[in-house]
Amino acid sequence: MARYPRPMARLIEELVRLPGVGPKTAQRLAFFLIDQSQAEVKSLAEAIVQAKQSTIYCSQCFHLTEEDPCVICSNSKRNRNFICVVEEPRDVIAMERTKSFDGVYHVLHGSISPLEGIGPNDLKVKELVARIGPDVEEVVLATDPNVEGEATAMYLARLLKPIGVKVTRMAHGMPVGSDLEYVDEVTLSKALEGRREL
Ligand code: ZN
Repeated sequence: MARYPRPMARLIEELVRLPGVGPKTAQRLAFFLIDQSQAEVKSLAEAIVQAKQSTIYCSQCFHLTEEDPCVICSNSKRNRNFICVVEEPRDVIAMERTKSFDGVYHVLHGSISPLEGIGPNDLKVKELVARIGPDVEEVVLATDPNVEGEATAMYLARLLKPIGVKVTRMAHGMPVGSDLEYVDEVTLSKALEGRREL
């Protein structure tokens, strides 16, 4: 790497840690930021600190929120007896974009992956089981259509069905091996419509 003034080198080091940012992009971003006014840079820095400080996880569904419970869990129009299980908060955002789901969510914060040493205890599985009261009518498993997502769905189906709740899985209109968040709204909405019982 070319020699930068030390503070700029430090900035590049921080930027390169961001997902999808390689050394070249990090350098370009650093040059861009140095070119900005003091006020603009301060506003960006404050937005980062503020977002980190005031974003928490909902104590019911574990989605990202500013207030607990989140806007979805506290919305009286949502059907609390229909729970959609997803891997990540960004999947909630993808599902919400479809406007075709009126239930509530449960964010696992990952998927079961023996290769990476991630088991059910590392995910919000206990919390999900605790939410399944006698009123819950259906749990739709919307984990990603890839190996880990399928394994997670199978595990959860085996765990939840004996409790006596209907467990469904999103239809396979979704591209296999993909990330839920990148699936377009129409496909996602159709996959929800065509869910099948496990
Ligand atoms: Zn919530």
